[in-house]
Amino acid sequence: MSPETTPADAAASLCLDCGLCCNGVLFDQVRLVAGDNAKALSARGLKLKQRRFFNQPCTALCGSQCTIYGDRPTRCRQFECRQYQLVAAGEIPAQTAAGRIDGVRCQVAGIEALLAAAGATNRRKPLVQRYATVMAAVPGPPDGGNALNYSGLTGAMDRLQSTLREHFRVEDGSPRSV
Ligand code: SF4
Ligand code: SF4
Repeated sequence: MSPETTPADAAASLCLDCGLCCNGVLFDQVRLVAGDNAKALSARGLKLKQRRFFNQPCTALCGSQCTIYGDRPTRCRQFECRQYQLVAAGEIPAQTAAGRIDGVRCQVAGIEALLAAAGATNRRKPLVQRYATVMAAVPGPPDGGNALNYSGLTGAMDRLQSTLREHFRVEDGSPRSV
């Protein structure tokens, strides 16, 4: 962080190269609240369900950036992950948070490779849903276990959720939910 960069600026920059709270890794949907303009958000490309919520991965996400940032819904404006909060408070350097984001990306890439090997290549659903669909479709082997447990998918997903709980989720009534 250069001397003239404030912690708040550093936190905002962090989001520009992240997108974990929009791409179906941290959350599966975002609910609108009073004051959000469903018609205007639909016109901007959000695929609203019952005019009340939309699913992730978000259709407004391009790469790791929100294409409707200035007009994003209330809950999108309100959410700050733990890494964002720590950087904004000056408690950790942005590089530390960026490293954790990269670490999650690596974990997700590993899980996606295992999902692809299981035939699940549709990335338009949240990660947890894709994982649940694959696990539900796999018959257990004769020893009573699940074949994908042995290929590492369950362990990889457990480790990812542990990382997200420890470093990204917040306990203050997070405005988006899985
Ligand atoms: S997960 Fe955190 S750092 Fe990443 S875009 Fe969301 S708020 Fe920003
Ligand atoms: S509208 Fe923007 S901030 Fe909200 S989930 Fe979609 S990409 Fe993320």
